This record gives sequence, structure tokens and C-alpha cells, in this order.
Amino acid sequence: MHCYTHPNQQANAICKNCNKGVCPLCAIELEDGIACSEHCAEKVKMINGMINRNQSIQGKTKGAYYRAAFIYGALGCLFFATAFMYSDLKFYGFAAGSIFIIGAVLTIISGRKMSRSN
Ligand SMILES: [Zn+2]
Ligand SMILES: [Zn+2]
Repeated sequence: MHCYTHPNQQANAICKNCNKGVCPLCAIELEDGIACSEHCAEKVKMINGMINRNQSIQGKTKGAYYRAAFIYGALGCLFFATAFMYSDLKFYGFAAGSIFIIGAVLTIISGRKMSRSN
């Protein structure tokens, strides 16, 4: 393959944005790739930035799931404790506690599903 800009030069790399051949004279080295021009360099940086941002968003959502599950679980325990301490509130405490524990389990399951699909 020959360089897109210098047809008599042998290309030793491929632009990550437009897939054109790039010779050492016009290659712009980036963090994880080669670009053929300033224009492509900007695009590659933008794409890499987007990928990084997506990855951190996914990590955050997973963390949010586990935080929510923890809060549900804690509230469930609180209601169970209330049910044990106050016999008047027994039914109410167990009912509300069970709902929160189920909520915690479901939240963990959806969090797991999400991390598996990625
Ligand atoms: Zn290019
Ligand atoms: Zn060139």
C-alpha cells in the first residue's frame, strides 16, 4: 500500500479514522492509533474520548445499582427490626420489609444482567 498523500512513498500505517495508507512523513501518532491528518487526529481523539466516557458511565450505573440494592436491603432490615420490636407493627413491618428485600434482590439481578451484556 502507498501513502494517500505521497503516492511514491510506502505506507507503513493506516489512519484510524479514514483507513487511508499513511507514510512516516504524514503519520500523526496518537495515544492508541495513527491518523493521516490533523482533521483525522481530532476525530480519532473524539471517538476514543467517547469510548472512554461510555465505559466510565457503565461502571457508574453498575455502582448505582449496588448502592440502590444496599439501601433497599438496609431499609428492609429496618422494617424487619421494627416488626420484631413492636408487636403492633408486626404485619406492617414484615410486609414493608419483604417488599424492600425483594426490591434489593431485583436490583442486584438487573445490575448483574447489565454487566453481563457488556
Ligand atoms: Zn485519515
Ligand atoms: Zn505521506
